[in-house]
Amino acid sequence: MDNLLKSLKPTNRVVGRFAPSPTGPLHFGTLLAALGSYLLAKCSGGHWFLRIEDLDPPRVIPGSADAMLILLGQLGFEWDGEVAYQSNRYERYQQILEQLRSHGQVFDCSCTRREILASAPHPGEEGPIYPGTCRGGARGSRPECAVRLRVPDKTIQYCDRILGEQQQNLGKEIGDFVLHRVDGLFAYQLAVVVDDIDAGITQVVRGADLLSSTPRQIYLYQCLGVVSPDYFHLPLAFGYNGKKLSKRNGDIGLVTVENGSNMLWRALEFLGQSPPEELFNATPSKLLCWGLENFQVATIPTKNRQVKFK
Ligand code: GLU
Repeated sequence: MDNLLKSLKPTNRVVGRFAPSPTGPLHFGTLLAALGSYLLAKCSGGHWFLRIEDLDPPRVIPGSADAMLILLGQLGFEWDGEVAYQSNRYERYQQILEQLRSHGQVFDCSCTRREILASAPHPGEEGPIYPGTCRGGARGSRPECAVRLRVPDKTIQYCDRILGEQQQNLGKEIGDFVLHRVDGLFAYQLAVVVDDIDAGITQVVRGADLLSSTPRQIYLYQCLGVVSPDYFHLPLAFGYNGKKLSKRNGDIGLVTVENGSNMLWRALEFLGQSPPEELFNATPSKLLCWGLENFQVATIPTKNRQVKFK
C-alpha cells in the first residue's frame, strides 16, 4: 500500500507552507520555521503558503496573526495565494471526521482523564497510552464524548530529510489519539493533515518539537488514502536559561522590523548556512536573496542549540 501510494506521488512543483499559531509575537524560533520553509520551497521554484493555526480560540492572542503577517511582509517574505485560517475550516474537519467514521476508523470515547490514567498500561512520552476502553462503544463515565482514531499496532517509518530514518510504533508509543476533543475543538493532528492535503502541500518544514507528531500524521494520511509530504524537522533554538526559545518563554529573541536583518542573518547561520559578515546589516530582502541562492539542506544541523542575542 505504501509503495503504491509513493508511486502515485506527483513529481511536479514543491509546495511548502509556514503554519504559525497566533499565540504571540514573531519569535526567533518561529522565524526559523518561516525561513527554512520559505527557502526550501522557493529555492526549487516552488510555492509557499501561509496558514494561521487559530484552532484553539482560548490560546489565540488577538491581533497577533495580523502583526505576524505584517512583519513577515516587511521582512521580504512573499507568500503565494490567500492566507488560510483554520478557524474558517471547522466544517471541512467535521466532514473528514465523518468520512473516517463511515470507514469505522474512529470511535466515541467518554473516558475521563482519571479513568484513562487508572487503566493505562504504562505512561507514553505524551501522556498515558489510551487503554482501548471505548473501542467497542463508549463505556466511560463522562456524558460528552471525544472522538479518537483507532490506531493499530503498527510501526510508522519515514526518512526525515534532515534527521534521517525515523520510526515509531503508534499502538505501543501513542495509542488511539484524539481527533475531536471533548470541548468540541478539533485536534491539531487532524486539522494539520486536512489543511496540508487540501492545499496540496508536498513539503513540511517545521521545528523538531513536532517530530513525534509526524508518525500520527503519516498514519492519518494513510487512513485518508493520500500520499504524505516530505518532512524536514529543523533544530530548535534554546535560550541560555535552557528553555526552548518561544513566545511562551519571554522576550528573548523577539523579532521586530528594527532587528529583522540581524535576526535573519542569525537564523541563516543557525540553520547551518554561512551568510557573509558584510551582510549582517544588509536589508532583509538582500538576506533572503542570498539565502535563495546559497541554501544547502546538507549543512542544516541535526542538534538543537543555544543562541545568544546581544
Ligand atoms: N502551528 C504549529 C506551531 O506554531 C506548527 C504546525 C506545523 O507546522 O505542522 O508550532
